[in-house]
Amino acid sequence: MHTTIGIDLGTTFSAIASVDQTGRAVVLKNENDEVLTPSVIWFNEDSPVVGAEAKEMQAMGEEEIASFFKRSMGDPYFSLHFFDKDYSAQDLSAILLKKLKASAEAALGTVVEKAVITVPAYFNNAQREATIEAGRTAGLDVLRIINEPTAAAIAFGLNQQVNEQTILVYDLGGGTFDVTIMQLTSDEIRVLGTDGDHELGGKNWDDRIINWTAQQFEEEFGVDPLSDSLTFNELLVRAENAKKQLSARDVTRISITHGGEKGKYDLSVSTFEELTSDLLERTQMLVERLLDEIRLSWKDIDGVLLVGGSTRMPMVAKWIREMTGQDPLRGVNVDEAVAMGAALQADLDANGPRKSEMLSLGSSRKIRDVMSHSLGLVAENEDRSRYLNSIIIPKNLPIPSEETRPYQLYTRPGNRNEMEVLMLQGENVRPLDCQIIGRYVFSGIEHEPDKPAILDVTYAYDSNGVIQVKARQRRTAAELEVQVEAIPEELDWLDLPPTERDTIPAHLSLIIAIDLSGSMSGSPLQKSQEAAKDFVRQIDLANSSVGLMVFSDKVQMSQELCQNAKSLFHGIDGWTIGSVGYGNAAQPFTEARNLLAAREDPRFIIVLTDGIWYDQPKAIQEADKCKADGIEIIAIGFSGADRKFLEQIATSDANALYTNLSDLTASFSKIAQVLTESGVGGPEKKHGKLRIFSK
Ligand code: AMP
Repeated sequence: MHTTIGIDLGTTFSAIASVDQTGRAVVLKNENDEVLTPSVIWFNEDSPVVGAEAKEMQAMGEEEIASFFKRSMGDPYFSLHFFDKDYSAQDLSAILLKKLKASAEAALGTVVEKAVITVPAYFNNAQREATIEAGRTAGLDVLRIINEPTAAAIAFGLNQQVNEQTILVYDLGGGTFDVTIMQLTSDEIRVLGTDGDHELGGKNWDDRIINWTAQQFEEEFGVDPLSDSLTFNELLVRAENAKKQLSARDVTRISITHGGEKGKYDLSVSTFEELTSDLLERTQMLVERLLDEIRLSWKDIDGVLLVGGSTRMPMVAKWIREMTGQDPLRGVNVDEAVAMGAALQADLDANGPRKSEMLSLGSSRKIRDVMSHSLGLVAENEDRSRYLNSIIIPKNLPIPSEETRPYQLYTRPGNRNEMEVLMLQGENVRPLDCQIIGRYVFSGIEHEPDKPAILDVTYAYDSNGVIQVKARQRRTAAELEVQVEAIPEELDWLDLPPTERDTIPAHLSLIIAIDLSGSMSGSPLQKSQEAAKDFVRQIDLANSSVGLMVFSDKVQMSQELCQNAKSLFHGIDGWTIGSVGYGNAAQPFTEARNLLAAREDPRFIIVLTDGIWYDQPKAIQEADKCKADGIEIIAIGFSGADRKFLEQIATSDANALYTNLSDLTASFSKIAQVLTESGVGGPEKKHGKLRIFSK
C-alpha cells in the first residue's frame, strides 16, 4: 500500500489531503495546525519560508516575497529575482510543493512520494507541463494532474447515491474563475465542458474595496493614500479581511492611516455588492457562454457545486438561487474538496479500487475530462493576406484523445524537406491573441513530384491534457521525425502579411449544402452530421475554407466560410429540422455562387439531399451558372433523391453519387480524400476536374 497525497496547489492557498485506512479522504493539517497553507514564499538569507509566516511578512511590507505566481505558470518570461537567483513560476511552485510534501509527511508520519496535483481546468499545455515538472523537482512522483473542478466533483460524488445528475461546478478562487459542467453517474464522472477566466478571482473583489476606501480617504483628506506602497500593502490585507467579514455580517469598518491622517469607513454588504456587481456578471457571462456552447440551459442543471474561497461571499449563493431556484449543493467544504478529490484519485491510481463496502458507491468512478482550449495551428487565410489560427481540435473534447489531421506540403527533390507547424491554444482568430505552445518541425519527408505530399499529423492529448504530436507521410506510411523547437522570441511577423512562396497548395473554398427538409429528421440528420464532421476532420484547414449551408423552403448559412473546425462542428451541431421549413422549395446554388464569387478557384459545392426538389429546372439552371463560373458541384443523394437530377446538377456524372445512409460517411470521406490528395489547383492553380467516385 502506497501512501499517496492529493495536492490542491492554489493561487492564494494550497491544501493537502490523503486517504486513511478506512478509505476516507482526510485533509492534512500543516505545522500551524491549519488546513490551508498560504501560497506565499518569503526569501531571506537562509532557506525560503513558505506559508503563514511568509504571508505575515508580506503584510508587514517585506519585499522579498513571491505570491500569486501560479498565475504565471508556464510563462517563459516570468522571473523573480531573490538573493542573486532567478526563479520561474515553476521553480517557486516547486519550493511550495516541497513544503507541502514535508507537511504531509509530518502529519502522516511517513515518507510520501506519490501525488496527484490539481490544476485549473483552463490550464494550457505549458502550464500543465510546468506543474508536472515542479512536482518532480519537489521530489514527487506525479501520478497525474487533474482539473480542480473534477477533483471537487470526485469528492462530492462520493457522497452521492443519485443515479444521474448534471452538476455545474462554480469555482471562484483567489485569482481565478472556472466553470465546469459535468454529468455524474454511478460509474462515471463525465465533463461536458469547461470555461473560465484566469484573471478573475477574489483579488478583484479586494481591489474594489481598496479603491473604494482610497476614494473615501481622498474625499475626506484630499490625498491619494495609494501613492504610498506601504499604505497600499496594508490596505491589501485590510480589504481582504473586510471582504471576509462581509461574508458573515452586514457591515464592516475599514481604517486607514496615511500621512498622519486616519480615516475610518463603514462598508455595507449592499455597497460591496454594488461595487462588484460587474465581476459577478462576468462569471455569469462565462457560465452562460458555456451552457450555450454545450447546448444546455439553466434548467438542465440539477445542482451547483461551489468551490474556492471566494464562493463564501453570500452574493454568489444568492445569485445561484436566482438562476436555478435552489440553494447550491451542500456536502463539500469549498476549501477542502479539491485536495480531497485529488487524494481519492491518487489512492485509486496507486493502489487500485478499495474493497471496502463503504466505497463501492463510486470511488472507482471513471473520469472523462475534457481539454479546455482549442488546439490550432498558424495558417494563412484564403487570399494569403494574413495569418490566422486554424482550429483543428475544438475545445471540450474528451481526454485522453487522439485526432489525426491532413496537411498538404509541396516538396522539393531530395529528402531535405521539412514542415514547420506553429501550434496554438486558444479561441481567437489572431495567432498573437492565442497561447503559442510549440514549434514542431517534421523532417525526413520524401519528395513527391506532382502533387503535394500529404502529412497526417496526429495530435494526442494524454490524460493530463498534455499534447504529444507525431506525423506520417501518407504515401510512404513512414513516421516522420519530429523536433519540438523553442518558440521564436520575435513573433511580430504573425501580424504582417505572409511572405510570398512559390509552391504552396492552392486555397480551396468549399460549401457543404445540406437538405434539412422534414424527411431528413431522425437518423438521416444524425448520420449527415456525423459524415460532415468526419469530412471536416479530413480536410486540410490550413489550406481550405469550408462553409455550411442548410436549405429546405429557405436557405441559410449555419457557418460562414472559415478555416476553423470548432466553428464548423458548432455549426453542424446546430442543424435542426424545421429551422428552414419542411418542404423542398429552395435550392442552394444561387446563394452559394454569390458567396464563392469573391474567391478564386478551386471552389466546390457539395450538396446532400434525400428528396425531390419542387423546382428542379430552376436548380439545374442555377447549378449551370455555378459551373460556368468554374465552381465544381458534387451531388450526393440517398433515399428519395432523384439520380438523374443529381447528375444534372453535378459537374460530371462521376461527381453525382447515389448512396445510402450507412455509406454516407464513407462517401464524404472519399470526397475529402480526393480533395486533399489530388492537389487541385496545384501551385500554378490549374483547375482540374475531380473524379470523386470511381465505382
Ligand atoms: P482559494 O484560491 O480557493 O483558496 O480562494 C482564496 C480566495 O477566497 C481569496 O481571495 C480569499 O480572500 C477568499 N476568501 C476566503 N474566505 C473568504 C470568505 N469568508 N469570504 C469571502 N472571501 C473569502
